[in-house]
Amino acid sequence: MIILALDGLEYKYVKEFKCKNLMQKYCGKTDISEFSEPRTVVIWSSFLAGKNLEKEILKTKNFWEFKLNPKETFFSKFKKWKAIDVPGLTYKSEKHKKERELLKKFFNGEITIREYDKAAFKHHKENKAEFFNAIKENYQVTMGYFALADTIGHLSFGVKPKMKIVYKELDKIAEKIGENNKLLIISDHGMKAVGRYGDHSNYGFWSTNFFADLDRPKITQFRKIIELCKG
Ligand SMILES: [Zn+2]
Repeated sequence: MIILALDGLEYKYVKEFKCKNLMQKYCGKTDISEFSEPRTVVIWSSFLAGKNLEKEILKTKNFWEFKLNPKETFFSKFKKWKAIDVPGLTYKSEKHKKERELLKKFFNGEITIREYDKAAFKHHKENKAEFFNAIKENYQVTMGYFALADTIGHLSFGVKPKMKIVYKELDKIAEKIGENNKLLIISDHGMKAVGRYGDHSNYGFWSTNFFADLDRPKITQFRKIIELCKG
């Protein structure tokens, strides 16, 4: 099974830009109304654990650094698995910290959006190479995380031609995974435009190439579905 974890992927743009590989056979919005705010680490960690971890995570000093033990996640049901850059588990904290610093630098007038975007795309490329190498290894579950729609979206969600390029890039990743695997595509939250910028929206995105009888699932419901894919 492959899980393509796309931070901040917005349902409306997936439809509008006709990203058919992201939509797959079945797709919809997720229900994240159980969380007080759409926070990245909180939602991904809750997805992995199959339960709402908001209270626990917000108690920690720096929630970006929060890490679950794999035993607490659906990965514990599999012998051979790989999770690339997944928030709350294998998150590359230093790289993401740098990206958040660059965001601040932009708002302080120290760098341009172009410089910020360049760093985001570089990180994206690295994860992409790692992800497709992992797929070749035939793990029972490979989960690849890509922050691009979120990182670029924060400064450019209202700039549609640019976001279309980002969404088409993610659509190509989904296409390249191919039909040989069960594929779940999932986002923690979507985005909404605030002028040219973007802020998190209060639902996420899901799609599958297999029937899972979902309409508007809670993000915490997926653990069971993933474990059932073990067969
Ligand atoms: Zn996020």
